[in-house]
Amino acid sequence: MFGGKELRHAISMASRWSRASCNLRSNLYRWNKTFIHTSSCHRKCELTSKRYQVKRGKYNEINEENIKFFTELLGPHRIIEGESELEGHNTDWLDTVRGASSVLLKPKTTEEVSAILSYCNHHRLAVCPQGGNTGLVGGSVPVFDEIIISTNLMNKVENVDTWSGVVRCQSGCVLEALDQHVADFGLMVPLDLGAKGSCHIGGNVSTNAGGLRLLRYGSLHGSVLGVEAVLASGEVVDCMTAMKKDNTGYDLKHLFIGSEGTLGLVTKIAIQCPPRPQAVNLAFLGLSTYENVLKTYVAAKSKLGEILSSCEFIDRSSLECVEENLKLKPPISSHEYYMLIETSG
Ligand SMILES: Cc1cc2nc3c(=O)[nH]c(=O)nc-3n(C[C@H](O)[C@H](O)[C@H](O)COP(=O)(O)OP(=O)(O)OC[C@H]3O[C@@H](n4cnc5c(N)ncnc54)[C@H](O)[C@@H]3O)c2cc1C
Repeated sequence: MFGGKELRHAISMASRWSRASCNLRSNLYRWNKTFIHTSSCHRKCELTSKRYQVKRGKYNEINEENIKFFTELLGPHRIIEGESELEGHNTDWLDTVRGASSVLLKPKTTEEVSAILSYCNHHRLAVCPQGGNTGLVGGSVPVFDEIIISTNLMNKVENVDTWSGVVRCQSGCVLEALDQHVADFGLMVPLDLGAKGSCHIGGNVSTNAGGLRLLRYGSLHGSVLGVEAVLASGEVVDCMTAMKKDNTGYDLKHLFIGSEGTLGLVTKIAIQCPPRPQAVNLAFLGLSTYENVLKTYVAAKSKLGEILSSCEFIDRSSLECVEENLKLKPPISSHEYYMLIETSG
């Protein structure tokens, strides 16, 4: 257990570990990805439709005429066909679910997304929106042969308002790249997670991702100010307000936050970015009981106030797993529980 003074001291003592520890999740992410890809070379996971015995809806199968339409709309290089080319897009990050899509489309603009969805709706073709495909619950890959609509090329930052800190961008911006972009303006994206090098801001909004800094910056329902989305019919819903104190009528954007692509494809986002902290420090603590973890959490919240930006706990077996697989040495001796406490300001 720590009082405020001890906690501040522990944080400054541990700051030299901060860089390595901050990279821990990214390393884990890379390690998992390599491990999964190496193991999946030998054995593909079972098709989702077989494993769960789900019945395909009454949708049409894609044909030559459909391909011709998409090729005319996007050009030959933004439509990908073929089982091996689509393997990574048909299988989720955990390698637990697998679809059988044969076509992936890469629109660049809202208008193209609208044309695709309107056409698919008219021709009864099922679709699956996909961002960075880092989702852990299988929603990012098709179940059957749905057309994958990837936001990979929708990666433009449209505007950074340095007065208000509101950033407007397309939904396919990779979280880490967006954060680096806004860093040049002294801002940060109020969301950080282990998959930041691959996940898209549109995927984050569609999953209402929480991440490491939720404790300080709150959920995306608070920081996302505006959303533009295209409905299945092709209709564009423009809720791209950048005004924080907007109390006019229904706030439709909230429906899209966390809707996992079930209501439409998110094409643009306006997000409130806070000032980038000048200093970040991290403490890594060892504790003997879970009760002490809770007490330390309460102490951190009350003593560190607004500079507390992240607080997580790890149990012994989880840390041992990291040690074994990443060949990392823990910064402190063995304990039942560990805590990562980050301050920034
Ligand atoms: C190492 C690692 C750490 C993670 N840490 C966290 C964490 O701390 N907190 C957390 O919440 N999650 C975490 N995740 C899960 C995942 O990264 C998040 O859910 C992320 O927000 C998904 O973004 P994505 O772009 O990869 O979306 P995808 O995985 O591609 O898609 C996720 C869902 O959103 C839909 N979707 C994607 N883009 C759009 C769009 N533009 N419009 C409509 N629907 C769309 C897809 O259809 C799917 O249903 C982690 C994952 C990994 C691998």
